[in-house]
Amino acid sequence: MDEKRKHYEALKQTIEGHMNLYYNEDSPSISDFEYDALMRELKEIEREHPDWVTKDSPTQKVGGAAKREAGVTIAHHVPMLSIQDVFTKEEVEAWISEVKGLHPDARFSVERKIDGLSMSLRYEDGVLTLAETRGDGLVGEDVTLNARVIPDVKQSIGTSGYVELRGEVYMSHSDFERFNERQESLGKKPAANPRNLAAGTLRQLDPEITRERGLRMFVFNVQDATGESARLMERHTAGLDELAARGVVIVPHMLCETKEQVLSAIDEIGEHRGDYDYDIDGAVVKIEQVAYRADFPAGSKYSAGHIAYKYPPEEKEVEIEEIEVGVGRTGKMTFRARFAEPVRLCGTSVQYATLHNIDYINSLGIDEGCRAVCRKQGEIIPAIISVTRPTGTVFQAPNVCPVCGHTLVREEGTADICCANPSCPAQIKRTLAYFVSRDAMDIKAFGATYVDTLVDEGYLHNYTDLYRLHGYRDELIEKGIMGKEKNTDKILGAIEESKRNSVDKFLTGLAIRNVGKASAREIMKHFSNLHELADADVETLVRIPDVGEITAECIHDYFADAENRRLLDEMAALGMNMESEKNEQGAALAGLKIVVTGTLPTLGRAEAAALIEANGGKCTGSVSKKTSYLLAGEAAGSKLEKAKSLGVPVITEEELLAMIER
Ligand SMILES: [Zn+2]
Repeated sequence: MDEKRKHYEALKQTIEGHMNLYYNEDSPSISDFEYDALMRELKEIEREHPDWVTKDSPTQKVGGAAKREAGVTIAHHVPMLSIQDVFTKEEVEAWISEVKGLHPDARFSVERKIDGLSMSLRYEDGVLTLAETRGDGLVGEDVTLNARVIPDVKQSIGTSGYVELRGEVYMSHSDFERFNERQESLGKKPAANPRNLAAGTLRQLDPEITRERGLRMFVFNVQDATGESARLMERHTAGLDELAARGVVIVPHMLCETKEQVLSAIDEIGEHRGDYDYDIDGAVVKIEQVAYRADFPAGSKYSAGHIAYKYPPEEKEVEIEEIEVGVGRTGKMTFRARFAEPVRLCGTSVQYATLHNIDYINSLGIDEGCRAVCRKQGEIIPAIISVTRPTGTVFQAPNVCPVCGHTLVREEGTADICCANPSCPAQIKRTLAYFVSRDAMDIKAFGATYVDTLVDEGYLHNYTDLYRLHGYRDELIEKGIMGKEKNTDKILGAIEESKRNSVDKFLTGLAIRNVGKASAREIMKHFSNLHELADADVETLVRIPDVGEITAECIHDYFADAENRRLLDEMAALGMNMESEKNEQGAALAGLKIVVTGTLPTLGRAEAAALIEANGGKCTGSVSKKTSYLLAGEAAGSKLEKAKSLGVPVITEEELLAMIER
């Protein structure tokens, strides 16, 4: 294999890994920007070498969905096909004329096309036996365990024989926002849109996660039905209505006789699409009489007798009166355009549009006072896509945080400008929620909601205030902010207790950019206490394994900030543990080289070795002059002889344990 091909294969694997982290683990380790760059590179290579491209390339995967690690694949009983899209009303009319030409009594169901992912449910004698994703249309994945925790999925529907239902699994806007708020408060990457999150949630392997995030489902078709249940498949809407009577959540539908009725039903869905608590990406038109559908095939990929009308994106010209600059909960500057007058788009009144970042604003020439085109296409937030009347001046981003006045920094490799002040009021709720979270200080029962209230009530301005909360005990109980007496005392106790945490947890809690849980642990192995780390220069920091130049600079910059140092000193004064474990309890055997031989009374060899290492000692294999001690048990042979001849002290297990206890 030549170098280029090797690089290509390695790149595919890297991207696969990131896709898995993003879609299946929800813990991406690189930014969207970096991810896009990798994808661009992959596409570039594939353009040069089209013969290398296989079906498993990340570029070939529908919607960028990653393969599940351990998902079981299922061959569908009935293929799960797509629906042929049409983009004009004329195409809809032509199709209806064609159907009416052959079957003058044909009727049509017009339905919202929910933007989620398709799932089939198999029922045997009315009991749910299997749920499967669409996959490639012929083979999908078994997601039964996840489907069972979706409240809209009925476990039993009281039918007889075999019934297979197909529907769309989606995430509501409210659940989507709840998820992203939580991601932000944990310092994790928010999901891009409800559809991707719904897909990732249904396809990941833990039903608890599915339950917690909340998925919904609309059933929109009877795929198959045998015996008595076969009547469900005669007339489409009658089948759906019978299912609805059995408690199945079915897609909203309108039964239409004429072309005019179909078109007005499509318009009605389009006008209200801004009002639904979920995204739609069109309207589906289906022939009501299921038997007629086969007469209108649309190709092997598409369902016969169905079309999907795609709404054009709605656009309006607006005048941008002001560009509002704010700070997001992650410290990023946010920019939004406020219009002089609200406009109606996709059925909702719109007065603001997102402007992404400063590069986007400047590259389009967006400025206060310009006229521009605002577009909304089912998305939650409309966007400015072009400028029609520029102002001739360039919009300047502020130099300081509009909330706290701290100097802003530009994030490396991205277009984001951030406020780096950890006590910035705009970010304090997020930074504190992270500080108390399981990944950091792990203060039990003290969640983000308490943090929010305590910040709002003025008790918390930075993390040191947590350790002064006990001074307000009676007041807190009186206000009931953290429940009654018992719960308040429990939480205050847990906060106090957290002072004894290992120092790497505290370091994690400081949320220094690029210093997560694992790197904090690694870093603190190299310093005897946090002050030593705080004083370290960049050259010292980069010598630590896993610490690159950027991370080293982040650490150095953090502690170079006078305010951050002041908080650290305050914390030390409040009694926070700043010492590394190695020097605290592990020092007992620090620097000692110990050889283990023979059968020990209670410890196994591996156990003894682990214990020695855990206490800072080094376990070596053979006895030499440099050996500090020989730990000898029963039937110690040549090593004992050698130790004696070299004058190496011999100790028993009991003596070793005593050294550690000391
Ligand atoms: Zn700020």
